[in-house]
Amino acid sequence: MRTARVWRRLLGVEHTVIEAVELEDDDDEELLVARVRPTRSRRGRCSRCDRRCRGYDRGGGRRRWRTLDVGTVKAYLEADAPRVVCGEHGVVVAAVPWARPGARCTASFEDTCAWLAAHTAGSVVAELQRVTWRTVTAIVTRVVAERSAGCDRLDGLARIGIDEIAHRKGHRYLTVVVDHDTGRLVWAAPGRDAATLGRFFDALGERRSAALTHVSADGAEWIHTVVADRAAGAVLCLDPFHVVAWATKALDAVRRDVWNELRRTGRTAQAATLKGSRWALVKNPEDLTGAQRTTLAGIAVTNKAIYRAYLLKEQLRAVFAAKGKHGRVLLAGWLAWAKRSRLPAFVKLAKTIERYRQLIWNTLTHELSNARSEATNTHLRVLTRRAYGFHTPDALIAMAMLTRGGLCPPLPGRAE
Ligand SMILES: [Zn+2]
Repeated sequence: MRTARVWRRLLGVEHTVIEAVELEDDDDEELLVARVRPTRSRRGRCSRCDRRCRGYDRGGGRRRWRTLDVGTVKAYLEADAPRVVCGEHGVVVAAVPWARPGARCTASFEDTCAWLAAHTAGSVVAELQRVTWRTVTAIVTRVVAERSAGCDRLDGLARIGIDEIAHRKGHRYLTVVVDHDTGRLVWAAPGRDAATLGRFFDALGERRSAALTHVSADGAEWIHTVVADRAAGAVLCLDPFHVVAWATKALDAVRRDVWNELRRTGRTAQAATLKGSRWALVKNPEDLTGAQRTTLAGIAVTNKAIYRAYLLKEQLRAVFAAKGKHGRVLLAGWLAWAKRSRLPAFVKLAKTIERYRQLIWNTLTHELSNARSEATNTHLRVLTRRAYGFHTPDALIAMAMLTRGGLCPPLPGRAE
């Protein structure tokens, strides 16, 4: 009896009777197999609604669930998997207290995988848990589905950011919605068009759409059109990090032109120096290393055009740092400077920014916080580049919800 209690603790199971624990040889590894059954009160329940049901048949017979290693040994729970007849759900596999419906692993094993997936690299999770990355993504999808059921993530939204994220090397897109006030990802779906975004507003409903005060987005016109139609009361703003990203892109174009010109005219040494300069130019000045500061100082002397482009990019950042009326004054100055910069990429950018001037003014006037939505945006972009990749957009969305939607489970046996 005492031994059974020790095993229940070690295996992290509740409402479970331990019948026997044995070591078993499987090829060249040893497995620990615990033969178990649910306690009487937990037997014969529907795996979808947990209601007590009449038995149907033995189902697939004995089944095994992978669980957390015991010490260094791979461990499994083994039990009958009978089927029951639920008044509402028909013939279903009976619920077991140690695993989610349809899972091949126990809930403690799945929660550990999900927690690790949210906190460390995919390769580490797979190696440590001895599972494939595909299994990890399937687990994350199931954990997120369970944890998001029963809570409406769209409640209480006032200020949101709408964004599009490329994945599959830029061939596919997700539309994502972030809550500016909590920084959380609240909604995501495959696609980037008016119909996709329309589904977000359908889910939000008229009453909650009317409660939105601010909506930020990038320059995508289709987002602006849908927002104007479905949340007419909200002030539309342009996300500062997108605007700064446009300036970085313009800076890259200037740098590329100068580099090509240097190579064309045979100044290869100068071209080579410039090639390694990108980070010095695009990083925020406060993050520069000593060597990068030196690179930048060199560019200021030898490449006036690139340095002018650099200053324009930094000045645009300063506009958003200033905010309010001061920000609007700086923006006017920036536009005048960019237009006569003799840098085609920045002349073009000035035109774009002029077109969106009202939306940028809204951003400056309402001082929409940018840091959190930018962090979420950056994180999502990192996710889409993860080495293992995601086989379906749903798996990618589940991972995004796990890490940025506040849906990560606590480690088994620890407080939430
Ligand atoms: Zn049921």
